[in-house]
Amino acid sequence: MNRGEMESVDAKDCLFCRVIKRELESQVVYEDDLAVAFQDINPQAPVHLLVVPRKHIPSLAVTEEADEALLGHVFMVARKLAERENLNKNGYRVVLNTGSYAGQTVFHIHVHLLGGRSFHWPPG
Ligand code: 5GP
Ligand code: ZN
Repeated sequence: MNRGEMESVDAKDCLFCRVIKRELESQVVYEDDLAVAFQDINPQAPVHLLVVPRKHIPSLAVTEEADEALLGHVFMVARKLAERENLNKNGYRVVLNTGSYAGQTVFHIHVHLLGGRSFHWPPG
């Protein structure tokens, strides 16, 4: 999917915008004015949450300078949720897939918070 195609998926048709608006059923675990976090539908670890900004941004590749604080906030929410899920002792992984080579499938920027098991490096 190229940049033009990504941007043609507008907020109305976007899966995660629909989760944010509660048009689509999901297990929301956190929300504030700027961000929402919910359980991944296909968890890859005992804890697998997705943190998204309410603002529809297709990917990290198309973020703007003005998004800097919002992106920081999304990561801080991930940090707080990791703490809440007791992941600090053993550690956890935060992933932001960007574009096709990285395997990004949903074009509303999202941070994966994965924990509760150990992970390999390098990733596949
Ligand atoms: P990506 O590969 O784009 O980084 O990750 C997209 C993630 O969204 C995947 O882990 C996938 O399981 C999750 N996902 C896809 N559709 C839905 C959905 O409708 N609801 C929820 N909660 N997660 C979804
Ligand atoms: Zn969206």
